[in-house]
Parts: sequence; structure tokens; C-alpha cells
Amino acid sequence: MRYLIISDIHANWEGLQAVLADSEGKYEKICCLGDVVGYGADPNLVTDWVRENCVAVIRGNHDKACSGVEEPDGFNDIARAAVQWTRDELTPENLEYLRELPKGPYEFDGFTMVHGSPMDEDEYVIDVYDAIPQFAFAITNPVFFGHTHVQGGFALTGMGTVFPRRGPLQGGESASFEVVDKELVNPGSAGQPRDAIWEAGYAIYETESRVVTLVRVEYDVLAAQTKIREAGLPSALADRLSFGR
Ligand code: ZN
Repeated sequence: MRYLIISDIHANWEGLQAVLADSEGKYEKICCLGDVVGYGADPNLVTDWVRENCVAVIRGNHDKACSGVEEPDGFNDIARAAVQWTRDELTPENLEYLRELPKGPYEFDGFTMVHGSPMDEDEYVIDVYDAIPQFAFAITNPVFFGHTHVQGGFALTGMGTVFPRRGPLQGGESASFEVVDKELVNPGSAGQPRDAIWEAGYAIYETESRVVTLVRVEYDVLAAQTKIREAGLPSALADRLSFGR
């Protein structure tokens, strides 16, 4: 089975559309690692799409905050403003859907989905030192994670060596690898990349060959930015999309 793995769409319809156009024909089913909404201007369009098209979805911290599962206490002012805007915007059906999303770790067809880390759904796995303790909690291989909006991940070999994986460096490129003894794989963010590359990220995972392909694809960032500004969301949320920050 070939899966399209997406994460951190953050209500960016244009990013999601580019990912779907680019990945068409390369997968059979879709899994989503959370943060469906928050920051972007299309929370209902994106949530409707996720509800209809993903076979497995877990919640992210923004899904919890925007649906009222948690208050956005640890969020900065800009993120909190986006939470309030998104809460007001979401339909009752979509609020209910996001509220009911399961938390990770979520095992599915031989792999595991987490938003933050195998130990904690809200934890950021940024470098190898964050990754090392997580391997003991990785029940399956691979584990897919999001939350950092940084495409790539971390691998642990049978010799005990841990090394980082990198995604492609620009749009239109991809990077493939066969999973080693343990892999934590981040497909990147489809809607708000933060690894200094503005293009939308996604992953394809083929369960028989156990090959992961990381991809970056250009999208209509100007349209996403215009919608954010016209919605009255903080303009910094539009600006950052240009820089992948
Ligand atoms: Zn996120």
C-alpha cells in the first residue's frame, strides 16, 4: 500500500491543493498527522477535505485549541488571535470533528502516527538529542511525526548510530530512502513550512518496500497570503509563508 502522509496543513488550502496535484497517482490512501487548522484562512474547506479523504487522522495542538479541547495558554499573541478567529469561523460540525480527533501515538497499517513525539503529542523533536530518547517509545518502524514543520527526521541504525534525514532543498525535488532499524520521519508541513524553504512538503510511504519519499512542491503562496490578510488575521501569518519561517 502507498500512503500520502501529510501534516500541519494549518488551513492553507493552496498548499494542500499543490500537494494533491503533485502527488496524484502516487498513493492509494491518505493519513494526516494533525494541525488541520490554525493560522490559515480556510479552516472549513481544509477540515471538510480531511473528513472526506483521510483514512487516519490524529489531532495537533492547534486542533485542540481551535476546537476548545484546550485553551491556547502556551501560544503567543499571534497564534492566539488565529485560534480565536478559527473558533469563530468553524462550522459546528467541523468543531465537533476536530474535538473528537484521537491523540497520537496512533498505530495504523504497521506504522505509527504522532503529532509531536511518541512520548508526548505536544513535544517538539527538533534535533538528534530530542530524537534519541524517542526511539525507545517507537513501537513500529517507521514513526511519522509533525509539529516542528521541518521536513526530514531522524534514523537509528542497528549499530546504534543516530543521524538526521533531510528533505529536498527546493520545490520540484524529492528524496527517497529505505527505512533503517528505527526511523522518525517528518513529512514537512503542507501549509506553513518552517525550514527556510517556502514550498509545501509531503511524504509518500510504500509499506511493502518500506521506502519513504520526501517531496517539496511550489504552491500559490500569494493567494494564501491574500486570503489571510483579507480575513483580518495577523499579517505576520501571511508574511512568514514567503520565507518558510
Ligand atoms: Zn503545526
